[in-house]
Amino acid sequence: MSNRRDFIKYSGLATGGLIVSNSLSASTNDSPKPKSGKSTKMKLTFRPYDLQLRHVFTIANNSRTTTPVMLTEIEYDGLVGYGEASMPPYLGETQKTAAEFLAKVDLSQFGNPFLMEDIIAYVDRIAKGNYAAKASVDIALHDLIGKIVNQPWHKLWGLNPAKTPNTSFTIGIDTAEVVKQKVAEAEVYKVLKVKLGRDNDKEMIKTIRSVSKTPICVDVNQGWTDKQMALDMIHWLAEQGVVFVEQPMSKLAVDDIAWLTQNSPLPIIADEALQTVADVVGLNKIYSGINIKLMKCGGMRNAFKMANMARMMGMKVMIGCMTETSCAISAAAQLSPMVDWADLDGNLLISNDIYDGATVVDGKITLSDLPGIGIRVKKGAAPKS
Ligand SMILES: [Mg+2]
Repeated sequence: MSNRRDFIKYSGLATGGLIVSNSLSASTNDSPKPKSGKSTKMKLTFRPYDLQLRHVFTIANNSRTTTPVMLTEIEYDGLVGYGEASMPPYLGETQKTAAEFLAKVDLSQFGNPFLMEDIIAYVDRIAKGNYAAKASVDIALHDLIGKIVNQPWHKLWGLNPAKTPNTSFTIGIDTAEVVKQKVAEAEVYKVLKVKLGRDNDKEMIKTIRSVSKTPICVDVNQGWTDKQMALDMIHWLAEQGVVFVEQPMSKLAVDDIAWLTQNSPLPIIADEALQTVADVVGLNKIYSGINIKLMKCGGMRNAFKMANMARMMGMKVMIGCMTETSCAISAAAQLSPMVDWADLDGNLLISNDIYDGATVVDGKITLSDLPGIGIRVKKGAAPKS
């Protein structure tokens, strides 16, 4: 009898037992003994940083040359985990909102960094939204844990680093001559990404096809309004060597998108329709796949859950990014062996990256062997501490 009781207790089958152990976990002090003799309280610090874009970035009727980010660090037992929040203005977060959010985060209450589920649930409860700020804590925590156990996350997740995908590289909309030149410069990439949803969609694709046979993925950013026109266009795109179509119509046009997905020769991927874990199940049978971004979903832990949920439902998985340093890009790259497509070119678009991390070799994402998220501070780039 007592054996059976022990079995139930340790296997978590007794619901009461599970609740008790969860409620105690934040205060238990079963953390590993400190190695360094330094502080074993986790300490979060942060500082704003402006990414300088290599080229003027234009979407809709707005151009910009910088992207504001917040760089975070979690210090524990002599080790430092790095994180980042990237906040392109159209998403609503700013360095000010991130600073206000991060100032409320008190990690010292947790016995050790391995209480990840508790820590991330706590950070999530501090305020609604603020997904980029939340991601900056999540990424730093992952980096720290990887450094404590001295392993990169792709290994901890059991992913094969040889299975990383090619990353796509975005070709911005421009005059035919400039587009041709950009395509020539992007020769190393095995997938090109193009933003459509304007009146010159076919022209843009034809221009690229006049100089390159490289597969293209298309992001419409909700730009098409008529489902039959969208389907006709997708049939035409399929003939042009396009591999998938991201967010073809408004995220609110659920019935139209479900119809498109059912009839489309190409996979239809949700981007704007998707924020975080809670949204994934509702997109099944409406889209063929999802575009996960760390800044959108709150970080690596949610991203990993979402990728697994999508896989369980037979959906495709894509991982995307904002303009980010190699910190957030390398964090996303850890997950990339389990995705179908990656769009992780954000660090290639800036001129003042302060980290070395995942690289692109011959078009393919290439993970470093460094522990955690696999980055180190660039020589000469002074971190805060
Ligand atoms: Mg998109």
